[in-house]
Amino acid sequence: MFKPNYIKIIFQGWLNWLLDIISDLKYKKYFDDRLNICKNCEHNKHGICDICKCVLTAKTKAEESKCPINKWDTIKNTLNKYKNDN
Ligand code: SF4
Repeated sequence: MFKPNYIKIIFQGWLNWLLDIISDLKYKKYFDDRLNICKNCEHNKHGICDICKCVLTAKTKAEESKCPINKWDTIKNTLNKYKNDN
């Protein structure tokens, strides 16, 4: 059974995927960066992560989502890291 937070993350991802078609998303740059990492990842099997089994176009657009092997992080952690590095 899926945990409630996992369902929320899946919903966020698909909602943002839909919104991306009709408007500019607040974190679009970060979502695009994540998807580019996934595009070059050995675990990307035809757009699905073979570790978490998520559809990557949606997974990369959920703010609270993160890569299962830490190739990219949640938007909150990414912004904090960027702030601390600068
Ligand atoms: S979520 Fe992580 S492990 Fe999965 S395809 Fe993307 S970069 Fe690779």
